[in-house]
Amino acid sequence: MWKTVGYYNGEIGPLEEMKIPMNDRALYFGDGIYEATCAANRVPFAIEDHLDRMYNSLRLMEIPFQMDREQVKAELQKVIDAAEDSPIHFLYWQVSRGIGPRDHVFPGPGVEPTLMAYVKPHSMKPLDKPFRLISMEDIRFKLCNIKTLNLIPSVLANQRAAEAGCDEAVFHRGSRVTECAHSNVSILKDGVLRTAPTDELILPGITRKHLLALAGENGIPTLEEPFSMVELMNADEIIVTSSSALCMRVEAVDNIPVGGRDPGRLKVLQDAYLAKFRRETTK
Ligand code: PLP
Repeated sequence: MWKTVGYYNGEIGPLEEMKIPMNDRALYFGDGIYEATCAANRVPFAIEDHLDRMYNSLRLMEIPFQMDREQVKAELQKVIDAAEDSPIHFLYWQVSRGIGPRDHVFPGPGVEPTLMAYVKPHSMKPLDKPFRLISMEDIRFKLCNIKTLNLIPSVLANQRAAEAGCDEAVFHRGSRVTECAHSNVSILKDGVLRTAPTDELILPGITRKHLLALAGENGIPTLEEPFSMVELMNADEIIVTSSSALCMRVEAVDNIPVGGRDPGRLKVLQDAYLAKFRRETTK
């Protein structure tokens, strides 16, 4: 057992000591896709949803990954089971197009995609600790619906956010809010939960999907329509969702106080989310 565990094409070991072939296309082109979720009691949360999205990303990227869901789940479970105890583990995995000499064109049919994963201890921020955001023009490409490894604009945005003492960056294209650098963003306004539609401008977040379903179950109407920066700033609550932080409220955007006007509905959603996470990760 190791504190942080690495996995590459069937090989498992301490993450810091793992080595991968230099010709893995993930290194040259970011030519691959990834997924991430938390596990509690060594049960990965919402694994079926993540596998659905993984196979969809692979299809859109035309990566001929041959492993079926049960095989992938079994491999990921080996990585989780090789980790030292922790109340929560973070599970990351990625599939690249494979190993081959650097060439912009896809490699030939003999090249198998690679599966890489790691597990590390994780702690979630308490849901009542609010996030602070900075806003930024969304300069990413139009493949945001695919969970590709190409994350440079998000890396730069999160660096700017950290430098500004913020937790996340919220992106907008012109006035239209898209999502955050590594989360989705939704608002509560006049009792309605509103979030951008799942087009090519945002990642279809699993947590976003769950939040919409939980709102429905709790009598909160939902609307999947774009909203503007002005609507964001005037929202009753702003909610940031991701697999690693679940569902966080926002107290400031660009140092301007926001939200705080619908704490009741916000708490209903956060409590429902936490209950779902606990229920579905109980052995
Ligand atoms: N949007 C982007 C750009 C992300 O990178 C992520 C997560 O990594 C999300 C949204 C949230 O997705 P999920 O809820 O599936 O973690």
